[in-house]
Amino acid sequence: MTSIRAIKGFKDILPGETELWQSIEQTATIVLGAFGFREIRLPILEKTELFARSIGEATDIVEKEMYTFTDRSGDLLTMRPEATAAVVRAYLQHKIYAQDPVQKYYTIGPMFRRERPQKGRYRQFYQINAEIFGVASPYADVQLIVILVELLGRLGVKDAKPHVNSLGCPACRPDFRRALLDFLASREDRLCSDCLRRRETNPLRILDCKVPRCRETSMDAPALEQFLCAECRTHFDTLQQALDELAIPYFIDKRLVRGLDYYSRTTFEIQTAALGAQSAVAGGGRYDGLVQTLGGPDIPATGFAIGFDRLAEIVAADRQATTAVPDVFIAALGAAAQARAFPWLTALNRDGIAADMLFEDKSLKSLMKRAGKLGARHVLIVGENELAQATGQLRNMATRDQVPIALNRAVAELTRHLADGT
Ligand code: AMP
Repeated sequence: MTSIRAIKGFKDILPGETELWQSIEQTATIVLGAFGFREIRLPILEKTELFARSIGEATDIVEKEMYTFTDRSGDLLTMRPEATAAVVRAYLQHKIYAQDPVQKYYTIGPMFRRERPQKGRYRQFYQINAEIFGVASPYADVQLIVILVELLGRLGVKDAKPHVNSLGCPACRPDFRRALLDFLASREDRLCSDCLRRRETNPLRILDCKVPRCRETSMDAPALEQFLCAECRTHFDTLQQALDELAIPYFIDKRLVRGLDYYSRTTFEIQTAALGAQSAVAGGGRYDGLVQTLGGPDIPATGFAIGFDRLAEIVAADRQATTAVPDVFIAALGAAAQARAFPWLTALNRDGIAADMLFEDKSLKSLMKRAGKLGARHVLIVGENELAQATGQLRNMATRDQVPIALNRAVAELTRHLADGT
């Protein structure tokens, strides 16, 4: 019988990797905390309508990538493909805006999109999301970019560069949309079938189509920047001045548009060469219209999503895989020694000491082999002789030195020796 494997595009994160994931999460929590963000934890399942209404019916995500099903009572549910819509839902449902519209949240967890799996692209992937509600100022956008630069810097990612663009607002984007469609009208034969469809639904997305012929065709397309209204222009200028002032290098990328309909004004991505084709490790921007679209008051908002899997891949390339090494391995020979040693092991573990032991009757040779395989720093040898003399031997595996351990005070003596490093 063949064994069962995980679903295509779904992957396990194994010990050896999880240590890195934990350390990234800790760093992210510290940095976000320092910038005033608080954690929010949300369900993975939401009503399908939430994503259809917020992300937009005519986006790749909603059209073809969502894991949607009808549950036993007939409700149409979706495994969340992104976090922002659900954060806004919670912000509205609990009327948080009524107490104080200004809120800074972060959330970390899995997202689900049925995309074609490849390196750096999974069907269950993880994101670190940050959202700022109630602040219209470009400084909030800058703050998000600073957090990303700071976090990636602390994690040792060297070439992370913010790409920024402005998507305008409902006042000025229609002019650009028209200009773009005029430009494309005489070039229809050079667009892929997806882009031909996007002309009707989401023409901005034609600018970031990955098909080389489409890229070539849109190379000389008008830039959104030329169409910005006065408010959007000031917003974008202030953002750039603030980044200059902070000496954060960035690249103005006129092709940078986002797949989700609710973005407005600032949009940004952090790219790194380390990722090859899937070069974006994080993306985000302003979504001033979303709170209202989801039935709330007119409250501006801005946020980002870091691709946790991709971030872990970049950081892992620079770091050695970690293993959990016991400080002490108890080589207990025979049933009597095991019965005596098990409470010591438990007491050490409870005290937070990495101690290990094999619960099997094995020879000293195979117990030492096991200790060597685990990379144990010390081995406590307890056989029949040691029990009779009430004294075990603690061997330092690096120096091969041995010290006696009084077995009636085994835990205290072990703790002292391990602390001394003897
Ligand atoms: P998005 O929510 O599409 O703006 O994506 C934000 C970030 O999440 C991207 O920059 C990627 O790093 C990451 N990401 C998006 N989709 C996937 C996926 N299918 N697999 C792994 N990471 C992803």
